[in-house]
Parts: sequence; C-alpha cells; structure tokens
Amino acid sequence: MNANQDRFKKIISHAKEYGFIFQSSEIYDGLSAVYDYAQNGVELKNNIKKYWWASMVQMNDNIVGLDSSILMHPTTWKASGHVDAFNDPLIDNKDSKLRYRADVLIEDYIGKIETKINKEITKAKKRFGDAFDEDQFRKTNIRVLENQKKIDNATSKMKKCFEDDDLVALKQLIVDLEISDPVSGSKNWTDIKQFNLMFSTSIGASSESASEIYLRPETAQGIFVNFLNVQKSSRKKIPFGIAQIGKAFRNEIIARQFIFRMREFEQMEMQFFVKPGTQSDWYKIWKENRIKWHKELGLGEENYRFHDHDKLAHYADAACDIEFNFPFGFKELEGIHSRTDFDLTKHEEYSGKKLRYFDPEINESYVPYVVETSIGLDRMFLAVLAASFKDEKLEEGNSRTVLKIPDFLAPYKLAILPLVKKDGLSEYAKKLYDELKIHYNITYDEKDAVGRRYRRQDAIGTPICLTVDHDSLKDDTVTLRFRDSMDQIRVNIADIKSEIDDRISLHHWLT
Ligand code: ATP
Repeated sequence: MNANQDRFKKIISHAKEYGFIFQSSEIYDGLSAVYDYAQNGVELKNNIKKYWWASMVQMNDNIVGLDSSILMHPTTWKASGHVDAFNDPLIDNKDSKLRYRADVLIEDYIGKIETKINKEITKAKKRFGDAFDEDQFRKTNIRVLENQKKIDNATSKMKKCFEDDDLVALKQLIVDLEISDPVSGSKNWTDIKQFNLMFSTSIGASSESASEIYLRPETAQGIFVNFLNVQKSSRKKIPFGIAQIGKAFRNEIIARQFIFRMREFEQMEMQFFVKPGTQSDWYKIWKENRIKWHKELGLGEENYRFHDHDKLAHYADAACDIEFNFPFGFKELEGIHSRTDFDLTKHEEYSGKKLRYFDPEINESYVPYVVETSIGLDRMFLAVLAASFKDEKLEEGNSRTVLKIPDFLAPYKLAILPLVKKDGLSEYAKKLYDELKIHYNITYDEKDAVGRRYRRQDAIGTPICLTVDHDSLKDDTVTLRFRDSMDQIRVNIADIKSEIDDRISLHHWLT
C-alpha cells in the first residue's frame, strides 16, 4: 500500500471513530456507496452549507435561494435528456467480474502518464534549481514528449468515440492502450454497454394507476422548472441566479472511494440566468469566482486545478471542473458549465409553456442562457477532512492526530474543560458553558486528564479549548488553548466572547 492509500485509510477510520461518518445500515453489513453523517459530521456538513449559502445568496443581491422537491413530474427527465442520455459506458472484466466505467479507465490511464511527467519535472527542478524552465523542459525532454504524445493520442481518440457514440471503438481503445483491470491485472474485457444512472420508483396507490417516476439525479432541473415563478415573484432582472442545496441520487456503477462517489449525495448548485450572447463572459466570471472561493478556505492553493472538458455534455457550450487533490489524486470537486438555453428551451417544448424573460432594456422576450456552478457537498466535506487531517510529531516523542479544519467550519467552536471535577471548578465551568452556548456550538468535557481532553478536541477539530482552574475562581480568568499552535493565553471571562469572535467568525471569510 502506498503512503497516500495508507493516509486515506486512516482518514476513513478516523471519520468513523470520531463520529463524522458511518456506513449506512452498518448492522446489516452496510449499503454500498451510501453513508450517514454522525454527530460531528452533521455539524461540519451544515457549516459547509452555511458557508456556501452565505457566500452565494447572502452576499450576492442578484442570487436568491430555492428548495425544490426531490420527486418531479417524470416528463422533466424526458425533457432534460436524462431518460435517454444519462448513461455511463460500463465494461466488465471477465476474470475479476469487476465493473468499471470505460471513460474512467481511460482517464486513469492518462492520469498515470501525467504522474510520470510530473515526476520527471520534479526531478529536473531539483537538479537545475533556479535555472529550471518548465516550459522549455516540456518542449524538449524526450521522455516528457513521448508521454505527452500518448496522452494526446488517448484523449483525442476517446473524444472521437464519444462524439460518434461508438462503443465498439471505445472498447478497442481500451484494448489498444493495453489497459488492465486495476485490481486483477487482467485484460479480458466484455463489450461496453450503456447504463442509465437514474433510480426509478412508482407513484400512485395501486399498481394499475401507478406511474414511473425518478429520484432526481441533479438538483438543477428543480431550478429550471421554477425559473419563471422565481423571476416573477422576486422581480429579479437578468442577470440573476437561483441557488439550491439538496439531495440527488445516482445509481453509480463504481461505488468506491468512500464519500467521493455515493448513490445518495448532496449538491450545492447555482444556476445563473444571462442574456444570450453574454454566456462566455459570465462563464469566465464564475470560473474565477469559484476558484477564489475554494482557495480562500486555506486548504492549500496547490490543491486545486482546473480541468477543461474535451467531451462536452449535450447541453453545454463550455465546461470545466475544479479538481481537488484528494488522497487518491486530483479529481472533480465542482463543475462549472455554460448550459446554453438547452434546458429552458426543452422545458418549453415538452410543457408547452413559455419560459421567457421580458427584457425591459431591449423591449424583447428571450429564453435566457444559463451558467451553472455545481459542487458536491460530500466531496467538499471529504476535501476539508482530508486536507485538515494531520498526524503531528510533538516534543519528547509524543504525537497527536489533529483536524486543522478552518475554524468557522469546525463542529464545535469551543470546548470547556474544568481542570479537575472538584473544588467548584465543574460548577464554574458549567455556568460558562450555559452562558456561551447560545452564541456557538460548544462542548463540555470533564473526564480524564486535561491533556487527554485536549487530544480528543484536536481529533475532532475544535479550534479553542477553555480551561477553568483554581485561579479562575479567584480572579475570573481562564486559559484559552489553540488547536493549531497549541499556544495558551490567559483571558478574563468578560473578554472570552470577543476573543472567540475575532478568530472564528464567518465574516472574515465572507468579506
Ligand atoms: P463524475 O464525473 O465524478 O461522475 P459528474 O461530472 O457526473 O461527476 P456533475 O453532474 O457535474 O458530476 O455534478 C456536479 C457535482 O456533484 C460534481 O462536481 C460532484 O462534486 C458532485 N457529484 C456528482 N456525482 C456524485 C456522486 N455520485 N457522489 C458524490 N458527489 C457527486
């Protein structure tokens, strides 16, 4: 097992041990690719939602919120193209009996070659020091050039297969690239089949009257069908956006990598409605806005990159992903898509209702174009968890596991710890707890030595511990101990609130 796999395993078991994430229905051996958020996980998840919602809806006067239902009229999914085209190309390995997405196998092949190129570059950087010119090196180094050629070849061939909808050629590409099953190493592949990812169920009381409906595979369509209702009732002028956080369901073929790819997950989506012809400007603006939002979180700017799509979805005229450096490599965290007027036009066609905006500036009605930002809440959770997870060596051979979660996202902002249970320290500490709990989500712990309690709070990411000791009873001062630096300061209890506010307020991130 390599170091990253090992680290990822540790993160998964930490998430369980410290009450962040449990496998769904674990007592029945679990349900594959479905997870539950436990007592600390739900707090972190809610805080991520708050951060996204505040920066989208609260901070933008031209974006409003929506909470549309999961079940929608089945024609919605005919119109959107999901019934006919929300498919993944799947391929089975005949020896291992494992199932894969054909495009993912090819992308992983490309990813491996990219890693080889990056290794060459890192080696050369070390060798040449300040004199190193990466562009020049990429253009002249024979091994890099050969590998780049392989990447370009695989990329362009895969793109063509998708453009031509040619599954036979796609399988041939896997054979030609000599891609083997990552688990068994076998190259014995079946033909590729299309597989629809929507979960269906039925609505209605009896089997005769029941009709098939779907669990929504994305939240976006709930926004589109409500576009005119929201526009009219909010009196927003274009350009404006509608934001929504909600569950989506996909019957994913490859259900690995923990909460990265789930069958039931949550999306935070914003559809921005613009005047036709301005979409590529807005696409650029949202690309910049979104990467800035991610980088400001402080998880490390080097952990993000854009991946522009070669293979555009049927509804898009431009698309990219923001990828995050997860423990298993750079993978999609958020998608930004210029969706044209595809969705609204299709809904007009299938519903027979006009979904047009009357633009008073030009005295004309039109179907707006749409730029979408769509981020997986669970993937964001995993990004925060993975980047915050640190095993640290301390003095005198000690070590600690700490979650350096951005303070305002931490499940608890503060832990109140009486040094000992006796001599009235507990009572004093509990009184403080009761006074402060109205302002923040805080916790109280009086069990075990204070050092062990600090470690427990480190492990769940609590940014500040407040310790009450015997001096507190005399002079109303307490010790604040900070998670990341482990520094301690003494403060008067009258100043606690402002000390905490200064450090953890969401305001710092929003302004
Ligand atoms: P992928 O290529 O990884 O399957 P996608 O391109 O199909 O993702 P979108 O349809 O663009 O994803 O959905 C927007 C966002 O929703 C993604 O960027 C991702 O963060 C999240 N998402 C999509 N599918 C899942 C899933 N199965 N589990 C968790 N999050 C998901």
